[in-house]
Amino acid sequence: MIPSVLPTYNRAPLAFVKGEGSWLETADGTRYLDMGAGIAVNALGHAAPELVEALTEQASKLWHVSNLYQIPQQQALADALVEKTFADTVFFTNSGTEAAELAIKMARKYWSSKGEDRTEIITFDGAFHGRSTGAISATPNSEKMVKGFGPLLPGFTQLPWGDHEALKAAVTDKTAAILIEPIQGEGGIRPVPDQCLKGLRDLCDETGALLIFDEVQCGVGRSGRLFAHEWAGITPDIMMVAKGIGGGFPLGAVLATEDAASGMVAGTHGSTYGGNPLGCAVGAKVMEIVSEPAFLDQVNAKAGLLRQKLEGLIAAHPDTFESVRGTGLMLGLKCKRAPTDMVAAAYDQHLLTVPAADNVLRLLPALNISEADLAEAVTRLDAAASQLEKAA
Ligand SMILES: *Cc1c(COP(=O)(O)O)cnc(C)c1O
Repeated sequence: MIPSVLPTYNRAPLAFVKGEGSWLETADGTRYLDMGAGIAVNALGHAAPELVEALTEQASKLWHVSNLYQIPQQQALADALVEKTFADTVFFTNSGTEAAELAIKMARKYWSSKGEDRTEIITFDGAFHGRSTGAISATPNSEKMVKGFGPLLPGFTQLPWGDHEALKAAVTDKTAAILIEPIQGEGGIRPVPDQCLKGLRDLCDETGALLIFDEVQCGVGRSGRLFAHEWAGITPDIMMVAKGIGGGFPLGAVLATEDAASGMVAGTHGSTYGGNPLGCAVGAKVMEIVSEPAFLDQVNAKAGLLRQKLEGLIAAHPDTFESVRGTGLMLGLKCKRAPTDMVAAAYDQHLLTVPAADNVLRLLPALNISEADLAEAVTRLDAAASQLEKAA
């Protein structure tokens, strides 16, 4: 008999009843150290007092009114994002997938409103942009995501990752946009080198194609900069954001330049919930905290510490781990075995991690995790690796 919850996930037999900072607790009081943060969502940890306050204060006043009316909380968050990024304008969604939908629509509308037939969108192997029909159509090479769901949306070409010649050959006068994660998340924590991001910007400037960054996972302080592309010193035309921006409240956004957004006039797009007062009150507090230079400095300091400890872990377990990669507190441990085995062994040590493609174990802690908790996480990973090695 089918479970009452549609069984599209292989869930761990773990249920948490409360959380505080980087720790989660089961009903019997067992504490787990959370190095996954709800897949890079709980940017400030669980039950962050500032976010609880922002949420409860707004919850007692007004949750939802619809976008038929002015929403001051939405205006304030949009203003903050515009002030702190390349963007001139913002549309709020409830998820990363919905942000992908709008990014795709916006790029095509841009060209159609100019009377040009440019609808093709280029993406890359290993990319993940969400699970809607549009978002899976963006990654047609991923059998796991698209098999059985066709016919897909036409107009997407997924190129090998890191193949500059294939990319140059693929961009034509039909190319509407290039869509890429500055640091691939699900694909296995693969950062695009800064010079390649610069090259992408140049290629888009030469050909007119719009550059879309998917910073759903790598954005909002995760990389040690407010947005990961800042490391490369270039900006996109359109950017998708979600996950960390709501700190656990479902919230996403599409940020764009005035030019890239020029086709999106009244009536061309909408969302009933997107940008509601509750979500935006929380998002504004997340932005206020995460965009502080001192906050980002501590992310980078902790990232350096974690990386150093992970190098030591790799040296101690050369048969289990191969290397560490990533930027900021978005790190991947490349394993010499299935990362799901590592995730399971880590559960035994009461440590939560997240698997990714390419044999990578993801470490995506809260951005304000303590140094002591980071050290504890590596101690537990060490024990998990020893346990696996003994069993082998
Ligand atoms: C998680 C993710 C998405 C999809 O976001 P949802 O909120 O799950 O819809 C899109 N792009 C990237 C890079 C992601 O990591």
